Amino acid sequence: MTLVGIGYDCHRLVEGRPLVLGGVEIGHDRGLAGHSDADVLAHAVTDALLGAAGMGDIGQHFPDTDERWRGADSIELLRAVVALLAEHRLAPANVDCTVIIEAPAISPHRERIRRRLADALGLDSGRVNVKATTSEGMGFVGAGEGAAALAVATVGDAPPAGGAGG
Ligand code: MG
Repeated sequence: MTLVGIGYDCHRLVEGRPLVLGGVEIGHDRGLAGHSDADVLAHAVTDALLGAAGMGDIGQHFPDTDERWRGADSIELLRAVVALLAEHRLAPANVDCTVIIEAPAISPHRERIRRRLADALGLDSGRVNVKATTSEGMGFVGAGEGAAALAVATVGDAPPAGGAGG
């Protein structure tokens, strides 16, 4: 059985915030605004997993009205969703995602992001693909007002507890 889900998120770029994408802090003069660390990529991946599992969205599980999630490390939220899937005997199988941001260039950070996401997902990094694009100067991304991310995830049956080979 393979289940598929999509995720989309966007956040505003502002001064005085770190830029965190896929759990990796990237040097830049502005960062993403939000209740948590506003990691737009981690949020899109988390929503894709929840979508595949039929478990709603990130806002239902980690509401931005809840003080517990203020400044939250979104990779930890992603890990929590992977654990939630495991409770339902589900596990991520692969993730493909795209960051849409005008600057800075993501390619120098791509492998670190990939490994960080793969670690949180419990996957080999070969099962996690990270892409990036600009918006060619158009719209809110092109104007540098914000960044967006898209993700697709597949989820399958989790291996039996105790691992294979027993
Ligand atoms: Mg978000």
